[in-house]
Amino acid sequence: MKPLSLTRREFLQSTAAAGTGVAFVQVAPRSLWSEAGLPTKSEPVPAWASKPMRWFQLTLVEDDPAHFDLAFWLETFQRTRSEGVCLSGGGCVAYYPTAIPFHHRSAWLGDRDMLGELVSGCRKQGMSVLVRTDPHATYDDLQAAHPDWIAVDVEGKPRRHWASPEMWVTCALGPYNFEFMTSVHKEIMNRYRPDGIFLNRWDGSGECYCQHCIANFKAATGFDLPRTTSAQDPVRRAYLTWRRERLVILLDLWNTGIRQINPEASMIPNNGSGALNPLDAIETSRRAPMLAADRQARHGLAAPWLIGKTAKEYRATMGAKPVIGLFGIGLEEQYRWKDSVTSNAEIRIWVLDAIANGMRPWCSKFSATLHDERWLKGVEELYVWTENNRRYLTHQQPLARVGLVYSQQTAWYYGDEHAEAKVENYALGWYQALIESRIPFEMVHDRLLDGAHLAAFKTLILPNVAALSDAQCDLLRSFVSNGGNLIATHETSLYDELGSRRKNFGLADLFGVDWTGKSEGPMQNSYLRLEHEAQPGHILFAGLEDAPRIVNGVSRLEVTPRERFAETPLTLIPSYPDLPMEKVYPRTAKTDISCLYLHKPAGRVAYFPFDIDRTFWDVLCVDHLKLLRNTLLWAHDEAPILEVDGPGLLDVTVWRNPDSVTIHLVNLTNPMTMKGPYRGFFPVGPQKLRLNLPADIQAKQARLLVADSSIPIERAGSAISLTVPSILDHEVVAIEI
Ligand SMILES: [Zn+2]
Repeated sequence: MKPLSLTRREFLQSTAAAGTGVAFVQVAPRSLWSEAGLPTKSEPVPAWASKPMRWFQLTLVEDDPAHFDLAFWLETFQRTRSEGVCLSGGGCVAYYPTAIPFHHRSAWLGDRDMLGELVSGCRKQGMSVLVRTDPHATYDDLQAAHPDWIAVDVEGKPRRHWASPEMWVTCALGPYNFEFMTSVHKEIMNRYRPDGIFLNRWDGSGECYCQHCIANFKAATGFDLPRTTSAQDPVRRAYLTWRRERLVILLDLWNTGIRQINPEASMIPNNGSGALNPLDAIETSRRAPMLAADRQARHGLAAPWLIGKTAKEYRATMGAKPVIGLFGIGLEEQYRWKDSVTSNAEIRIWVLDAIANGMRPWCSKFSATLHDERWLKGVEELYVWTENNRRYLTHQQPLARVGLVYSQQTAWYYGDEHAEAKVENYALGWYQALIESRIPFEMVHDRLLDGAHLAAFKTLILPNVAALSDAQCDLLRSFVSNGGNLIATHETSLYDELGSRRKNFGLADLFGVDWTGKSEGPMQNSYLRLEHEAQPGHILFAGLEDAPRIVNGVSRLEVTPRERFAETPLTLIPSYPDLPMEKVYPRTAKTDISCLYLHKPAGRVAYFPFDIDRTFWDVLCVDHLKLLRNTLLWAHDEAPILEVDGPGLLDVTVWRNPDSVTIHLVNLTNPMTMKGPYRGFFPVGPQKLRLNLPADIQAKQARLLVADSSIPIERAGSAISLTVPSILDHEVVAIEI
């Protein structure tokens, strides 16, 4: 596993490139750059974190103490069968009589201890309790006393809060967090002994140029703070790493502090997910017995499977530890209607897709005041259903055999400010293709490619995973030499782990091609020729039997094959003018330039030297969908764990529980699939399922958990077949084993 710190070699690269190699000598001995002192073992999971299936978060607003109805909320927690609660405690506003100077008490609090009342009421109901703090904003009195605790912008000015201009933005990496918030966390832990502290907006609000950041970065690296946003700037790379490390050190400091008071307690950092997460997911996952993924709702153009993707990303680094899906009840758009209520159907599809992908739900409500109660009944129904089916929703182990790799280091050091376009959109293309193809799969973190983490997988997909170390390439090599299959696209492995370009792919031997050093794009009006004559009936052409050519991607690398490939199903039809219309004719009807390299060095390897996945996400061309699906079918080379045949768009997951195999079918078929909110649901069916069970599993009877009925199964060897007559929003097939 790649260590958290820059290695000596990496650091020398950075410093040498910046012409300040001497700095390394000065900073090398500092503990910041050593791997010692950082915990390597994962936190165990105490009962307070493992038991709750349902959480409820009450995020208080400052005037809540004026009209707070404690009995109503305790009853709501009971009605929804909530087993864990997250309650606002302090930081920005304290909801208890704090003794810490400048820890701002709610102006409506008076002598009351609202946090204390809530904690005691929830404890009486047997709930796990987290206290939420938010350190990102503060007030004039603290700013006057400690001006150096405030974040500073690139021009050297202290930052007012963007939404509440009477407040100040705090520096996350200096004494405000390291000293002041440490005291706040200890005070809360001493007074209320919660199970943990849920940290909101704790990791900073953009780059900070305060005196502490300047001095600490200089002391650690020898550099001045970077002023560029280029991923190729070695000082910026060093800064990104330093900031991530400093936040991990902060987490460790806070964990140490609260565990002196409650040894089972843990900081629960709220952070992003997937490749675009600026925090190191492996390090945060190691330090927490559970994590809550804060993806409250979709917004803009987004499919409901996005919450399932988040669940898979968290599971990749959390393993069997609980992953909680923090959902909102309102519209989550740029105008930030934080008190709004969205449609019940939208809340349902979001939560159902989270549950189907292994998350435990966590309802997040802003303000204890109910401006609109329309969400309550729907959340209660969802929550009660999970309680009634609890035994099918716990201890889940995914049975998926396909892994979609995501790479934070590729986003950080290769993508940086363009990470969405250069990194994430490739993964989204594959994700959409896998959902449409109904292939169960998991996400895989690129720094967890060892044999143990890959044991469950037969095929890995690398969607433009550009930045890979030599060691990571070696792990992929052994995966393939042990019979694993690999699909990779575009610039995968063309850069090292810090985003420096190699002369050739790190995986050139696996791909069977070398990069010539040339690339082309963006290409207009280019096509792929399907070589039916040379490869008659090839699996790549399934559903494309009558297509002589289809559209190409947009960016491609020029590569030369190391050997003659037996299978070259796709060749390039180069770009030709798209205007004036009189000039729109192909200048070259046929080339021998292959656009997909298929071979079998041990396991099967498919390499696309272009951005087919990114282009698919961009334009959603159905021909690209078929190519992606067919490539996976060619590579996977074993009977799929599950086949689902029927109409509509379904998110399909398969799990093994202690006494059952459960199959979730989430019906995403909806005119509002790619942009919410849903207005309602449209039933699809029948769906014919064929499940190829692992040899050690014997199926007994099956039930539909949503329809609440038993269902006949047909056996053929280790495979079983059954038909789900209809799915409105969600169905779960539970097969007793
Ligand atoms: Zn700062």
